[in-house]
Amino acid sequence: MRMDIITIFPEYFAPLDVSLIGKARAKGLLDIRVHQLRDWTHDVHRTVDDTPYGGGPGMVMKPEPWGEALDAVIGDAATPPRLVVPTPSGRPFTQETALAYAKEPWLLFAPARYEGIDARVMAEYGDRLRVDEVGIGDYVLAGGEAAVLVMVEAVGRLLPGVLGNVHSAADDSFAPGAMSGLLEGPVYTKPPVWRGHEVPPVLLSGNHGAIARWRRDEALRRTVANRPELAARLDPDVLDKRDHEV
Ligand code: SAM
Repeated sequence: MRMDIITIFPEYFAPLDVSLIGKARAKGLLDIRVHQLRDWTHDVHRTVDDTPYGGGPGMVMKPEPWGEALDAVIGDAATPPRLVVPTPSGRPFTQETALAYAKEPWLLFAPARYEGIDARVMAEYGDRLRVDEVGIGDYVLAGGEAAVLVMVEAVGRLLPGVLGNVHSAADDSFAPGAMSGLLEGPVYTKPPVWRGHEVPPVLLSGNHGAIARWRRDEALRRTVANRPELAARLDPDVLDKRDHEV
C-alpha cells in the first residue's frame, strides 16, 4: 500500500521508521512518502497561511500551495488516491474506517495547522477523487500530524503480513467477528503470581472452552463498565443466555 503525507512538519513523521510500521516499510509492505508543503510556495517566506475571510482569530492555510502539492503528488494516476483530511469537525475515524482504508491501494493525507485548510481545496478535489474529512476524537489537537500518525498505525497494522500473528487483529476491541462490538478483556502473562496478585486460575486450566467463556464474560463486563453506549448497541442476536447474566 502507498501512503503520501503532505505537511509543513515532515520531521513529525520520524516515528514511522520505528517498530511495526518501520518493519512494514523495510519489508516493502508499506510505501510511505512524506512531502514538505512549503516546497510548493513561491515567496521568500514560503508562506502557507493567511488571515481568515470574515475576520476572527487564527490563520487559515492558503489554497494555492495545497493545490500545487496535491496536483504534483496525484499526477496523472489512472486510479487516484483517497484523500484523507484530518479535522475535529470530520466524521469519526473508527476501526471500521481503518478496515476500509486498509483495502485501498493508495491514501493521501493532508494534515493542517492553524484553523485548517481553505475549504475550496476539499471542494476542488471532491470533484475528482474521494475526499474524507475525518476526526480522531472529540478534542482539538494543535495540528493534523498526530492524527495522521494515529491513522497510519491503525491502518498499517491491518495490512497483510504486517502483524506477526494474523489472529491478533481479529481478537482486538472493535474488531468484527465473534466478539463483535465488545472491548477486549484483561490480559496476563508469566509469572502466575506477581506481588501477591494471581492470574485468574481458569487461564492456567488448559480448558479452552472455559477460557473462551471467561474471556467473553470479561469483555462484556469491561464494555458495560467503560463504554455503556457500546454495550447498549450490542446486537441481541450475537448475545447468548449467559451473556445476559453477565
Ligand atoms: N478550529 C478548528 C476546529 O475547531 O475545528 C481546529 C483547528 S486545529 C487547531 C488544527 C488542525 O489540527 C486541524 O485542521 C486538523 O488538521 C488537526 N486536528 C485537530 N484536532 C483534530 C482531531 N480531533 N482529529 C483530526 N485532526 C485534528
